[in-house]
Amino acid sequence: MTKQILQIKGMHCASCASVITKKLSALPNIHSVSVNYGSEKAKVDFDEKKISIEEMNQEIGKLGYTLISPQNSTDNSHQTDTKEDELNELKNKVEFILPVTFVVFVLMMWEILTEITIWMPNLPIPMDALNMISMILATVALFWVGKPYLFGIIRFMRHGVANMDTLIGIGTSVAYIYSSLVFLIPSLVSLLRMPDYTYFDVTIVVIGFITLGKYLEAKSKKKTGEAIEKLLNLQAKTALVIRDGKEIEIEVSEVVHGDLIIVKPGAKIPVDGVITEGGSFIDESMVTGEPMPVQKKIGDSVVSGTINTSGSFTFKATKVGGETLLAQIIKMVEEAQGSKAPIQALADKISSVFVPAVLVFALITLGTWLIIGSQYLGFPQALSFGLVSFVGILIIACPCALGLATPTAIIVGVGKGAREGILIKDAATLEKLHKVDTVIVDKTGTITIGKPTLVDIQNFSNLHDNELISILASLEKKSEHPIAHAIVNYVEDPVRAQEKNINIGTVSSFESIQGKGLKGLVDNKEYFVGNTKLIQDLGISFDISKIEEFTAQGKTPVIIATKEKVLGFVMIADEIKMESKQAITDLHKLGIKVIMLTGDDPKAARHMASLVGIDDVVAHALPQDKLAKIKELQLQGRIVAMAGDGVNDAPALAQADVGIAMGTGTDVAIESAGITLLGGDISKLVKVVRLSKMTMRGIKQNLFWAFIYNIIGIPLAAGVFYPIFGWVLNPIFAGFAMAMSSVSVVSNSLRIKAKKL
Ligand code: ADP
Ligand code: MG
Repeated sequence: MTKQILQIKGMHCASCASVITKKLSALPNIHSVSVNYGSEKAKVDFDEKKISIEEMNQEIGKLGYTLISPQNSTDNSHQTDTKEDELNELKNKVEFILPVTFVVFVLMMWEILTEITIWMPNLPIPMDALNMISMILATVALFWVGKPYLFGIIRFMRHGVANMDTLIGIGTSVAYIYSSLVFLIPSLVSLLRMPDYTYFDVTIVVIGFITLGKYLEAKSKKKTGEAIEKLLNLQAKTALVIRDGKEIEIEVSEVVHGDLIIVKPGAKIPVDGVITEGGSFIDESMVTGEPMPVQKKIGDSVVSGTINTSGSFTFKATKVGGETLLAQIIKMVEEAQGSKAPIQALADKISSVFVPAVLVFALITLGTWLIIGSQYLGFPQALSFGLVSFVGILIIACPCALGLATPTAIIVGVGKGAREGILIKDAATLEKLHKVDTVIVDKTGTITIGKPTLVDIQNFSNLHDNELISILASLEKKSEHPIAHAIVNYVEDPVRAQEKNINIGTVSSFESIQGKGLKGLVDNKEYFVGNTKLIQDLGISFDISKIEEFTAQGKTPVIIATKEKVLGFVMIADEIKMESKQAITDLHKLGIKVIMLTGDDPKAARHMASLVGIDDVVAHALPQDKLAKIKELQLQGRIVAMAGDGVNDAPALAQADVGIAMGTGTDVAIESAGITLLGGDISKLVKVVRLSKMTMRGIKQNLFWAFIYNIIGIPLAAGVFYPIFGWVLNPIFAGFAMAMSSVSVVSNSLRIKAKKL
């Protein structure tokens, strides 16, 4: 079983996507297929041993599409090349058809004016000559510019699959054939006593408008996908490594784990790693969205794609190739942009039944005109109106804009997020987020900076302070909790370590106690370290008032005890992030309730919460309590997003409707959460909610614009209003409306890009 994302060439409309999906899904050994018209990519889940990409390509090749296998497109330039070619071809066509369309359009207007006014002189060109020229131009328009649409007819006849191209193809060629018959066989006209009216202009102008629309669409679609291109451009091409004691420049792809890499000022960092020598300020804005360069010293991690602004340094490569953060980001953005939002399901369903339904409807309309219309208007006039309606319906009913509505907005939204250090896993997550009404935040690292420090020591035992701290630190060395880091850092501070001479004892039987603390033997004596809950569990007496003075200030107590009695406690304090308060206010403005869930001391947690304006606090919460709280909120009908550090909050993140991981540095588990906020402070949480609302609003507007043209256009084109108002939609305007709907949808999506988050 392999999952691959393949580029597809030759898609012209959303119904192409459903045609390809159907065709590929029907093949054996293909498990699932999802084709995205917006990104022109197919995600295929297939059995590599039993079916090759080449076989798939052959299958859809019959329908006029090409599947580009990843081998041919590993260097991304290939992809952009084929797109560039397609765009250039469209451009050539537009340069020809646009002036022609304009002239024909003017002549047409002229003709209409001579008919309905008395002051407009007749066209100074003989009718026959005009028809002759029109026919030649229409021939070029149909057989060169409109070739994809003719192909749509052939495809329909050969394989029975109809898409938007088929509709336009049939519409424009029916107009062309009818007009040619009228023009070339005058005897037929007189025999049937038909009006000798031709519709070459319809063929030319419709193809003209639609081709212009396609060109504008392709151009803007290219813009919607720019985010990926920008990310790819961040990648350094070469790296300066030390091999056999010599500095040599090699391709980035040749860098291996453990390579020592030299980075000069102004250079891009080629892979992820840890600084071993020197230091610098690094501009990480491209990855985290944070504008200020970050100071990095020995032992700090660096990320590929970021830029070294000042000093020189050497670092050891820890993640290379596809493992780097940048590579993961690119992969994730690519996948997310190609994924489908649930809201799209409706549009997909409609466009897959639309085309056949429209064909049938157009035929019924033609029949109705001929049968009923003939009784009132006579056959020749009814045939003329019938044809106009038939062509008009086929043209206006194209579900093209419908197919663009959702994917273009998603592509722009996801891309915009990526530029800000907001990584969105898939479209469904982005969609869900806009409905969120409750955000649950973790305290440490989310509301606070997450770098707690030891600020107080209270010793009730007959041990020396240093001995107590030494026992504590020995145990905490085994723990990963931010509290543990605070204590270990305190002891290992170079100055303090020397003057106090604190040594670390040997620890055995270490065990961490979920949500409460830890226990273990230090030099064969058993100790417990943790919060008041742990002490309660031990059943030893402890006067809680001793710590209340501290917890009321938001400090976290860490108590150390033996099985019999409490030996003392230390206080840990963590600063509130500057952005926290504003972010909570902003979330409130968005109508979102903010709840803090933490394993920390209730008093300390409540104090912190009140400082930033959080609505509700659940403290002393064990992981299962966190889970239960989320479930409880969900039962109340709330849509819950949970923001946490993603490491020990994994179950809660998974239970929430939207899991948001706040990552810092290289060690972010991008895959684990629906949304990852890089270089995370919680103001990004506000941004991502806004982004989601913005994108969804864009999608809804797009769907409206896509539908409205069809809803108004189809009955109008069918001539439903003719008996009442005498209205028949000229197919030319149908073509114009069609083109406009696609263009307006794509430009509406692009607007999201320019908006402020
Ligand atoms: P949170 O991430 O909200 O702090 P945890 O479940 O990670 O929740 O921890 C809950 C509480 O357990 C902490 O607030 C702390 O009081 C105690 N605790 C956890 N790990 C340690 C540790 N290594 N040392 C001391 N106390 C700890
Ligand atoms: Mg935690």
